[in-house]
Amino acid sequence: MRHNLGRIRQQVANTPVWAVVKADAYGHGLLNAMRAFDTADGLALIEFDRAACLRQAGWNRPILMLEGAFDPADIAQAAGQRLTLVVHHAQHLAWLAAHQGPPIDIYLKINSGLNRLGFVPAELPAVARQLATLPTVRLQGALSHFANADVAGGAAQPLACFDAAMAAMAPWLPAGGARHCLANSAAVFSLPASWRDAVRPGIALYGASPFSDQRTAAALGLRPAMRLHGSLLAVQQLQAGDSTGYSSLFVAPRPMRIGIVNCGYADGYPRLAPTGTPVVVGGVRTRTLGRVSMDMLAVDLAALPEAGPGTPVELWGEQVAVDEVAAHAGTLGYELLCAVAPRVCREVE
Ligand SMILES: *Cc1c(COP(=O)(O)O)cnc(C)c1O
Repeated sequence: MRHNLGRIRQQVANTPVWAVVKADAYGHGLLNAMRAFDTADGLALIEFDRAACLRQAGWNRPILMLEGAFDPADIAQAAGQRLTLVVHHAQHLAWLAAHQGPPIDIYLKINSGLNRLGFVPAELPAVARQLATLPTVRLQGALSHFANADVAGGAAQPLACFDAAMAAMAPWLPAGGARHCLANSAAVFSLPASWRDAVRPGIALYGASPFSDQRTAAALGLRPAMRLHGSLLAVQQLQAGDSTGYSSLFVAPRPMRIGIVNCGYADGYPRLAPTGTPVVVGGVRTRTLGRVSMDMLAVDLAALPEAGPGTPVELWGEQVAVDEVAAHAGTLGYELLCAVAPRVCREVE
């Protein structure tokens, strides 16, 4: 994680970095991430209870709440714990107008085409004018999120929309303007025009790729932060025509040795990973066979005559990129990293 933060800093020429640590730091453990990102300019997340954990654990730099307050109690917490709030809805303005007490730093969220959260440019002059009348609110910046930063040219239109919104708002901005913050991991690596005053990478910090093309995490200079590993529980000798696993999805075309691994979908390994998904057994790259079950999956031992119970297995990590497993399963590294199950033992280096 430290390496990846350094790699991102180098990429963005030392533009300030909000390290995104939502969803338990994409499955890596919030406090592990806090330690690894101790040089980040701020941390960004969604969950207010986890933001309180960060403050309790001693994180003193800014914390950006990416979805803003969910109810008025969050406004009070933000004031008490110095949380920076994203403001994306008229309801937020009403809550802030009623807030008394220590001032709250905010970032205005601009909807530049993703159409999830934020104000459209036409609403912004009125919003900015209203904010300027609120004594307990300090407008720090404006933020937007891209729908298609992972494809070439995918962010040009949203960037133009954002700039138009900022121009429309200019008369009501504080002296010195508002800080611009747009870039997710994909934009960090593909769109220098979006770096502006701060970037907000998530997935790249954990060593997976935001792209689904040939720009792999390794090609981007990132290192996997998570290794999911297990071992062989058993070995079976199949004859031609024998099958393995539920629904007999894999049928042996010839006699073959297979291994049974102590990892399944109840551990977070994707059930939809088909036969042929890469896996490393005893340091040798091979493939999964048949259907992944709750607690186990089968692997091909054709290239591993010595393998037996106890032989170590890497499901993803340094030898098999999580993105490769995800691609076979029809999903993204993001989903697999976040979905590692509570029963999996965590070891932290
Ligand atoms: C999750 C998130 C990010 C990080 O995105 P990555 O694709 O993981 O880099 C950035 N900004 C917002 C608003 C997010 O919700």
